[in-house]
Amino acid sequence: MDKVIVITGASRGIGAATALLAAREGYRVCINYQSDAQAAGRVLEQVRELGVEAITVRADMSIEDEVVRLFKRVDAELGRLTALVNNAGTIGQTSPVEEMSEFRLLKMMKTNVVGPILCAKHALLRMSPRHGGQGGGIVNVSSVAARLGAPTEYVDYAASKGALDTFTIGLAKEVAGEGIRVNGVRPGYIFTDFHALSGDPARVSKLESAIPMGRGGQAEEVAEAIIWLLSDKASYATGTFIDLGGGR
Ligand code: NAP
Repeated sequence: MDKVIVITGASRGIGAATALLAAREGYRVCINYQSDAQAAGRVLEQVRELGVEAITVRADMSIEDEVVRLFKRVDAELGRLTALVNNAGTIGQTSPVEEMSEFRLLKMMKTNVVGPILCAKHALLRMSPRHGGQGGGIVNVSSVAARLGAPTEYVDYAASKGALDTFTIGLAKEVAGEGIRVNGVRPGYIFTDFHALSGDPARVSKLESAIPMGRGGQAEEVAEAIIWLLSDKASYATGTFIDLGGGR
């Protein structure tokens, strides 16, 4: 079966590393991004150098019309979807709950919870045998914060990832009989640009002494777990999580 993957937020960080590894595994790759077309273009170039078909699609994956547009382009240009990685996510500046605005909370939940559910919905419409599909795999990129709660830092972000984990468990059971597996990865502190959003680009280096393994993680280490969960090697795994937190 031809392998076709959509990776949301793949212009950099964990999404970009996953796009490159997926290409090495022979997937045709849709690289989604929200704003940085140049960065997405660089990932596209590297993916195509590996000899696979790939496209970039600009879309805000928390808006259903844009999600629909992206999936239609994938249908037309890459073929029937077999894998989805819900990777796009956002975080706010470090702050206690009493200082969090309604705007911040709504953006967080829309990007980190509503968006992945919408993307899964449109993936299922292509993967499910009830809609002419042949099954597939979904991996949701959560965070160890879902377990730890991130007190005084970003409890709202932790709560959004907790909701994503519950969605992973529920959807996995809902579609388990249709040849669709749904799993999650929970990274800890990973060296990406994500930490600039929470106010400190050097956050991972500063916190390394608090990580049992004594170092931050690399995006490629998360990508390995994502691609394994999507592969036939993980054929009996659904509704489960791989934590990549260096012991946190
Ligand atoms: P990153 O380097 O900041 O990359 C985020 C990506 O998401 C970018 O490609 C960005 O696109 C895209 N994006 C953001 N909002 C989007 C939207 N609404 N629609 C489409 N694309 C959107 O982040 P990362 O560290 O790789 O994080 C990836 C995932 O891992 C996130 O879900 C995050 O919560 C999770 N995670 C990260 C860490 C960590 O330490 N880095 C730890 C735990 C969990 P543009 O650049 O084009 O805007």
